[in-house]
Amino acid sequence: MTRRILIVEDTPTIARVQKHIALKAGYEVDIAESLAQTKELISKNNYFCAVVDYILPDAPSGEAVPCTVQAEIPTIVMTGNIDKKTRETVEKYPIIDYIIKENKQAYQYLEKQLLRLPRNEDIKVLVVDDSAPTRHYICSLLTRHKYQTLQAEDGKEALAMLEAAPDISVIITDNEMPNMNGDELCTEIRRLYNNDEKAIIGISGADSSDLSTLFLKNGANDYLHKPFNSEEFYCRLSQNVDMLTLIATIKKQANTDYLTKLPNRRYFFEEAKKSLKKIELDEGNGALAMLDIDHFKAINDTYGHDAGDEVLKGLSICFSKYFKKYLVARLGGEEFAVYFADTDKQEALKRLEGFRYFIETNSQEFSKAKIKFTISIGFSIGPVYQIDELLKQADLKLYDAKETGRNKIIS
Ligand code: GH3
Ligand code: MG
Ligand code: MG
Ligand code: MG
Repeated sequence: MTRRILIVEDTPTIARVQKHIALKAGYEVDIAESLAQTKELISKNNYFCAVVDYILPDAPSGEAVPCTVQAEIPTIVMTGNIDKKTRETVEKYPIIDYIIKENKQAYQYLEKQLLRLPRNEDIKVLVVDDSAPTRHYICSLLTRHKYQTLQAEDGKEALAMLEAAPDISVIITDNEMPNMNGDELCTEIRRLYNNDEKAIIGISGADSSDLSTLFLKNGANDYLHKPFNSEEFYCRLSQNVDMLTLIATIKKQANTDYLTKLPNRRYFFEEAKKSLKKIELDEGNGALAMLDIDHFKAINDTYGHDAGDEVLKGLSICFSKYFKKYLVARLGGEEFAVYFADTDKQEALKRLEGFRYFIETNSQEFSKAKIKFTISIGFSIGPVYQIDELLKQADLKLYDAKETGRNKIIS
């Protein structure tokens, strides 16, 4: 989905820089050079957000700001200077942020904000407070920055909601609540979830300097004292969400094969191990297939290493689609694996045979050089509950398939 941004700026050089930043962040861009043009564009299009210059030829006192705000467009204000009067005027409106243009980091900061907004749409924040007006106020701040919000009246309800919606990634909690205090809720959340999965921000209106320490010691990532200003709230929240996003990216990279973007060997082993443990309790059967491209070295030798890579990538896309429901991985080189958790043997073999045949008849579509190739498959099935053992057995079958003519499955 492409998102449309409205840039309101009368200085062409600045508008060009902002446009460049917005395009880089993945937006479609419209530019308005005046208040009149802003109104016209708003009447014709839907905007995901707007970057608005405070002073325009036909809007000398920031009149464009209420114009986008009233049209319910999340607005970032760019100002030349921020004297007390401008600041007070700007802060009156529910804007996303204001950025001072002369500041050296201004455009880097704008880029960060433009990247955060679409990301926030996928982030769930749980607000825990016994006071409904406070919950609603915090949720309104969150919604302005496009976060998804959920609400709980106390710690008990919060824990139930976390169980029901495991993808909640931030919890903002009051301290003084009936049933369970905020710091107790923190302790319980940390018993159940790691720091790299969920961020907790504690808030309290109580006049105790010990409270921030109490929250932090019980596993909160941050603390805000009520009443807080919205800028501080957004800064702390963004930093915490940035941290979670960064950790998620690093985790994903650590589990993903660089060339094919399939899960890697490490991830495959971890997940298959977990699954086999579960299956063993139920006395079920896990199954594993190893797939290997036939005479792949000859493909590299004939068409070059880049063409070989192209084949690996094409095969991988097809492989992950064909085995969408299952755990798949590139184990290394031109070797892949599928793990079937408690699947009927005949069903697994039918699927694998279908895939083998599909590759035999369609492999030329994966590369510009129309390289034709086949795959061999070794299949093993329990009752074996050690992944290494299951893999060893599948590898022996794969060896048999290679020895007896390739382009086949041995089970
Ligand atoms: P067989 O049918 O017996 O499996 O023969 P093969 O040639 O496919 O197997 P062999 O193990 O002899 O060769 C595998 C080749 O795969 C050798 C290696 O250079 C190549 N290879 C491994 N990783 C990559 C890669 O990431 N990209 C490319 N292009 N080639 C790779
Ligand atoms: Mg309270
Ligand atoms: Mg091979
Ligand atoms: Mg091989």
